[in-house]
Amino acid sequence: MTDNELKQIKMFVLDELRTLYTKPTVNLWFEPMKVVSLNTETVTVSLPQSRKTFVETQYYDILKAKFSEILGFNAELVLISDEEEAELPEEEEEEIKPKSAYKIRFNPEYTFENFVVGKSNQLAQSASLAVAKHPAELNNPLFLYGPSGLGKTHLLFAIVNEIRKNHPDYNILYVTGEEFTNELIESLSMKKPMVFREKYRNLDVLLVDDIQFIAGKLSVQEEFFHTFDTLFKMNKQIILASDCAPKDIDNLEDRLKSRFVMGLVADIQPPDLELRVAIFKRKAMDFGYDLELEILYYLAKNITTNIRQIEGALKKLKAHTLITGQVCDYYVAKEVLSEFFVNAKSEESIIDRIFAFAEKRYGISREEMKSSKRNADIIAARHYAIYLIRKTTNLSQNSIAKLFNKKDHTTVINSIAFIERKMKNEPGFERELLSAIAELRS
Ligand code: ADP
Ligand code: MG
Repeated sequence: MTDNELKQIKMFVLDELRTLYTKPTVNLWFEPMKVVSLNTETVTVSLPQSRKTFVETQYYDILKAKFSEILGFNAELVLISDEEEAELPEEEEEEIKPKSAYKIRFNPEYTFENFVVGKSNQLAQSASLAVAKHPAELNNPLFLYGPSGLGKTHLLFAIVNEIRKNHPDYNILYVTGEEFTNELIESLSMKKPMVFREKYRNLDVLLVDDIQFIAGKLSVQEEFFHTFDTLFKMNKQIILASDCAPKDIDNLEDRLKSRFVMGLVADIQPPDLELRVAIFKRKAMDFGYDLELEILYYLAKNITTNIRQIEGALKKLKAHTLITGQVCDYYVAKEVLSEFFVNAKSEESIIDRIFAFAEKRYGISREEMKSSKRNADIIAARHYAIYLIRKTTNLSQNSIAKLFNKKDHTTVINSIAFIERKMKNEPGFERELLSAIAELRS
């Protein structure tokens, strides 16, 4: 592990300790820690002699527990003094990676440096960078939104990593809307709401990913409202990410919607071909590949909606070239990946294509189709998409309803009836739909 990664592990442990102890306590006893080394069993931490004895007698168990939690395994904790550290021989360490739930938090590779910028994400990126450089000075709260797989979480971690660099003493917390919810419920059931509040209201920076998760849950929204207000009044930075704009989050209280738009709202749109090529080039480099432009274009043409898929494709390619020893030229890439794309052309991508059809035909975005809005043209696009999904996939009516954020399958039945009637009355429409179905099935 690099020094930076070791430092980051310390940061995570400090974040956890700050939820338990006061700032002076953490600063006095834990801040001077240094994670000296780490292997699959043992984490070695050095402290000035003046702190070591006290920490060892008073805080050993909790410290060990927190390291274990962050690392994802039951770690042996060895405390040494800084003098002992100086005498330590240099040794080769085994490569290890944290593997717990914290893994996602431990994400030093999501940085601004490796976030590729283009038209569709430029506003979100520059706003994030501004917030990272000047927390709580501009754009508070910052609200990022856009469809899945386009880099929202990447940007949130880039902000965390950047702020950590410049303000190592800041109390920063990244959670998902779901984690916030679960933690709140747990604290209430354990009758410890104060612990929860203390944790959330003593932050310098709070990032909540997938905030839309709290919609429809009254007590969670209530608690989040007060968390938000408390931090905001103390001039602390809040950053939120969601799959749609605040006004489009169904069942979200108005007072939250209005607060979410008080700072800066920035969307991320699907990347165009040029940006996809640039992102793929960058990702390929991270995989140790310098891929020909032709291959990059081939990839970019086939992966259009979700950047996450690129990693799957590159892994596949890497595995193939490692096993066969073949050089990765265009033909090899095409052969290996066409298989990958065929396999990936499962339900998910059929649904994706259906949404693309419907978007093109009606000029309505898939977010709108999935929303509860009831304008005539949105309803028409929704019926069209639902009908095609029902006819070309094996999804149950209930799963389709869920996909459209509907509680039960009556929506699906209505859509099918609506489209079948329309097909009867309009032969042109029927022909169009039948050929769409044939194309999707091919
Ligand atoms: P979201 O949170 O919006 O669903 P993620 O942040 O998880 O999306 O991004 C999915 C994957 O795509 C991640 O591996 C991320 O690094 C990558 N990615 C997305 N946008 C970019 C970009 N502009 N440059 C580099 N990588 C990107
Ligand atoms: Mg995300």
